[in-house]
Amino acid sequence: MEAVLRNLFQSLAKNPSANRMAKKYGLRFGAKRFVAGVTINEAVQAVRQLNVDGRLATLDHLGEFISTREEAQESLDMCLATLDAIYESGVKSNLSLKLTSLGLDIDRQLCLDHMRQIVGRAQQYGNFVRIDMEDYSHCQPALDLYRELRKSYDNVGIVLQAYLFRTSQDVDDLNELHANLRLVKGAYKEPATVAFPAKEDVDANYRKIILQHLTHGNYTAIATHDEQIVQFVKQEVAQRGIPLEQFEFQMLYGICEDLQKRLVKEGYKVRVYVPYGRDWFGYNMRRLAERPANVWFVMKNLFR
Ligand code: FAD
Repeated sequence: MEAVLRNLFQSLAKNPSANRMAKKYGLRFGAKRFVAGVTINEAVQAVRQLNVDGRLATLDHLGEFISTREEAQESLDMCLATLDAIYESGVKSNLSLKLTSLGLDIDRQLCLDHMRQIVGRAQQYGNFVRIDMEDYSHCQPALDLYRELRKSYDNVGIVLQAYLFRTSQDVDDLNELHANLRLVKGAYKEPATVAFPAKEDVDANYRKIILQHLTHGNYTAIATHDEQIVQFVKQEVAQRGIPLEQFEFQMLYGICEDLQKRLVKEGYKVRVYVPYGRDWFGYNMRRLAERPANVWFVMKNLFR
């Protein structure tokens, strides 16, 4: 049953019509738990709340499945507006974004131009931009674009996914750039030709790439709610004398709040991924696919 629900939610997440339809409505189906709001002001307010107890944030203006240059321009404007709002409000947050929302599938040069504007604006503010990793078909194009950006900017990082066979090699290859990486297990439905199908293999590879990147001496964001992985990182950094400034834990807005707060109290840097905007559907479905038990939550909130 769990596998059926997982597949259903992953398919819905990718369905452009469902995503377009959901955009017309405010947050539904329990999305308020995972999405901070529709407007930039709501998002900044959510970050302010997190900052009160010492949690940092990364704001993400949700946007997927765009198909026109105009839509890519709108995403660019929203990313710039988000950086402006962070600066003006003084909240502690950087920016996360998806390259497809900035036109990666329309024209790679256009996407690169957009990224130069965003990373350049962030640089003026002394801020940082994180490129989220999407499905496998976008992995190489995203890494190519990241390398191009790094020729001019230091304040940009990218995400690598432990479920992909290629990732350990990517971690080694990016070592020459001293890349600031967010490491995750991976949220998309990928075939067994490119990704480990079994959870225990993903978890083992996750441990491996975390150590690989940390012991190369590079900044590492460990983005997980898995307490065993968190425990593993705590033990390894203590044993190896890796400084607290070289890594941070990251978790998603609305998930494992107690763990987030506990880690801050223990002295670790914790950053919460705070999504906002009208394009909430795909993001919400991926969160349900990760934990179909969240479905009861959706049922309870169907009409809210
Ligand atoms: P799991 O083994 O899936 O879960 C461990 C435990 O965490 C579960 O038992 C449960 O208690 C809790 N948990 C996990 N997910 C949920 C949930 N949805 N609701 C409630 N409890 C839950 N993936 C990408 O592919 N690209 C990205 O760019 C990306 N960025 C991310 C950024 C951040 C800050 C985080 C935290 C995740 C990101 N992900 C991204 C998602 C990631 O790949 C995983 O799908 C997600 O984090 C679930 O895996 P896990 O590591 O928490 O471990």
